[in-house]
Amino acid sequence: MKCTRCRAKAEVHLRAHNAGFCRPCYLGFFRRQVERAIAAECMCTPEERVLVAVSGGKDSLALWDVLLDLGYRATGLYLAQGIGGYSTRSQEKVEAFARARGLTLRIVELGMEGPGLAVPDVAAVTRRSACSACGMLKRHFFDEAAIAGEFDVLATGHNLDDEAARLLGNVLRWQVDHLARQRPVLPPTHPKFVRKVKPLHLLSEYETAVYAFMRGIDYVVEECPNAAGATQLVYKDALNRLEAASPGTKLAFMREFLRTGQRAFAGRPAEAQGAPQTCTRCGMPAWGEVCAFCKLVAEVESKRARAVTGPAA
Ligand SMILES: [Zn+2]
Ligand SMILES: [Zn+2]
Repeated sequence: MKCTRCRAKAEVHLRAHNAGFCRPCYLGFFRRQVERAIAAECMCTPEERVLVAVSGGKDSLALWDVLLDLGYRATGLYLAQGIGGYSTRSQEKVEAFARARGLTLRIVELGMEGPGLAVPDVAAVTRRSACSACGMLKRHFFDEAAIAGEFDVLATGHNLDDEAARLLGNVLRWQVDHLARQRPVLPPTHPKFVRKVKPLHLLSEYETAVYAFMRGIDYVVEECPNAAGATQLVYKDALNRLEAASPGTKLAFMREFLRTGQRAFAGRPAEAQGAPQTCTRCGMPAWGEVCAFCKLVAEVESKRARAVTGPAA
């Protein structure tokens, strides 16, 4: 197969786009897709300061790389979750990436925060699933780091496969509130929130993997051992089968939802629940008097105290 753009020998074939690319043209194609997604949704401007949440995986490192390449002012944020060897290896990848390029990287060590909030400890003490504890902690520390560092935008590496699987899950259960909020840009609804964006939302996992490979990005290949709500993987698998039978299905599913379907859910009363209040303990946004994070910290502290003193008589 020949490159669709320059007729050289193609190195990658994208069935969803009915196109083939040589290496330089593929890198150009990928950058253009990101640029277009950013422009179409007004995600950020070159003047703004962008905080990129990096996990050590291919998507977030590819995102950081391409944002810098496109001239955005992007700083990395890594959350050390304390999930054994997986966390150690992913932190090493992120640090090596930043070091090799002379980039600024911020690291939040969950084990050193509050009463000690490493994900496995929080999960064990509160009897939550590791994924639910992790998701909650991530949200809080991403928001906090973005506001503390005076960033304008928080960017995450969610790709088309992630977003299409999430959309499928929301549709299968008709979670209309979630559908109302599933957008690649979320404007801040509280002074302590910054804009949240997903510039890779229309690029597939395969496309970001090819980009990372071609750019020589060394990333952690293993998934988080707690991973990934098995259900999310089932949806991804189902979508991959549809994609194999009919290339372009995932992209059309996501793009047409945003272009036409989403409108039907946005602005519903449930979505118009208004802006969050302010947590009386930490000052971050809260639905109620105290935010979910402070409730979690209080729960961890009280259960640990009880474990030390034994059950009350
Ligand atoms: Zn070419
Ligand atoms: Zn709070």
